Amino acid sequence: MKFIEKGSEVPEFTRWKAQANENWQPDWDNLAGEPKLNIHRALLMEQGYICCYCNQRIDETNSHIEHLMPRKSYKNRELEYNNILASCQKNLKRKEPRHCGVLKDNWYDPMLMVSPLDKDCENRFRFIEDGSILPASEIVSLQNKNSSGYFTPFCQILIQILKFYI
Ligand SMILES: [Zn+2]
Repeated sequence: MKFIEKGSEVPEFTRWKAQANENWQPDWDNLAGEPKLNIHRALLMEQGYICCYCNQRIDETNSHIEHLMPRKSYKNRELEYNNILASCQKNLKRKEPRHCGVLKDNWYDPMLMVSPLDKDCENRFRFIEDGSILPASEIVSLQNKNSSGYFTPFCQILIQILKFYI
């Protein structure tokens, strides 16, 4: 995971939202076509064409727009530019393992989430010579383990993904 510094909102996103009137309100489900494609492209450029979670190389054909805070629980944030990122995986092939934004889906815990928007996110993991990936410190370890002592699902997912690509 690499820190992503969000820039200004893509002008096309701002213009699309500004079309709101008494007969039409912007809603993520209404966003399609050229405006959505341009937003997607802007996110890819902002991130240097890497997945927001696993750093895999991505482009518009193999990635999707991911809501960091999921739309299901944070509907009021679905149109915030600072809540959208580009994540790998678009149209899953049969039996293709889900990961990153697709696997994260509606999960979000502000206390446990390791966010690529946190400047410190790159320091949250430790890379060991034998290929192991561990939490960077005991503090992180405690933050990312649940009461049973297991890593939270998303932390575990990230560790598995990072192992896969190293
Ligand atoms: Zn990914």
